[in-house]
Amino acid sequence: MTLGETLERNGISRRGFLKFCVTTASLMALPPTAATAIAEALASARRPSVIWLSFQECTGCTESLTRSFAPTLENLILETISLDYHHTLQAAAGEAAELAREQAMHANQGEYLVVIDGSLPGPGSNPGYSTIAGISNLQMLEETVAGAAAVVAVGTCAAFGGLPVADPNPTGAVPVSKVVRDKPVINVSGCPPLPMVITGVLAHYLTFGKLPELDEYGRPLAFFGQSIHDRCYRRPFYDKGRFAETFDDEGAKKGWCLYRLGCKGPMAYNACATMKWNGGTSWPIESGHPCLGCSEPDFWDAGGFYKALSVPTGNIGGTAAVAGLAGVAAGAVGGYLSGRAKKDARTAHRKVTADELEQKL
Ligand code: SF4
Ligand code: SF4
Repeated sequence: MTLGETLERNGISRRGFLKFCVTTASLMALPPTAATAIAEALASARRPSVIWLSFQECTGCTESLTRSFAPTLENLILETISLDYHHTLQAAAGEAAELAREQAMHANQGEYLVVIDGSLPGPGSNPGYSTIAGISNLQMLEETVAGAAAVVAVGTCAAFGGLPVADPNPTGAVPVSKVVRDKPVINVSGCPPLPMVITGVLAHYLTFGKLPELDEYGRPLAFFGQSIHDRCYRRPFYDKGRFAETFDDEGAKKGWCLYRLGCKGPMAYNACATMKWNGGTSWPIESGHPCLGCSEPDFWDAGGFYKALSVPTGNIGGTAAVAGLAGVAAGAVGGYLSGRAKKDARTAHRKVTADELEQKL
């Protein structure tokens, strides 16, 4: 059964499907013509087999993907895959569950996707620190990935090691990319990651048969190409040097910048500022809390959550350090970066509407 047939059977209207294609193309900064390609490819695609492995993790990544309100884009894309193995979501347990994994691998040799959340005890570590069905995480990963087409490391633990890797890393944990060397690996970081980023990557793979363009950390550029700071609505206050000093002072009440309360937005690359959380309801900074930088390597060891950045970390535009050290913001530079970012976003996100798409197809 094709995806188009599956969606129809599940009562998804054609217009709802086309809207999904338009939104996906826009969110992934693809050219307007890509919406047509996505619609055509997804409608005729067979449901790909996905094997989801959970290692040293907290289940937050799965919660992120499934805690959404129907009907949503996330649910729509979940209809498109055949989730053949997932500890938390599957009904089968024990030997029956492991049999399902083996059958999916066998039946879809070379074509299935492996999604992983959690880090795993590395090759030099005690394999007994984390086991499933009597075998170590390392063995299960190597065995499952051997016949896969590609690997998606979901969440900061799988992408960069996350909490298990935090000093002193008692289990000798490593991220997926340290073990998987001979298959394409895409990192969808975040603690947890945004659900639409996970589904966007799957939609891209279904449409184009390959992973999207990645940044230096193996993350999809469309979602991680700009920092939280670049897209933050409090940015004008940063540029004017207006900062909240405590969580309940006048500045906090007026919505001023949270930089001095420890905001890691200038060094965090993620799409929270534009996509928000809980179906677009809000996001941490809008709720008055600094960004913790959860999508970055060394998330847990990068200094205190509420300690202001004083030295740029990673690819920062330079304004954060100036603001932190001198107590004022470098408005001119900030304004230039902001303007350039906006121009890039406008160029990359030129939209096509569902109506236009309907006429084309
Ligand atoms: S420092 Fe944080 S709150 Fe301030 S503008 Fe940047 S991202 Fe927004
Ligand atoms: S705002 Fe920052 S800490 Fe919060 S989810 Fe987004 S990237 Fe992570």
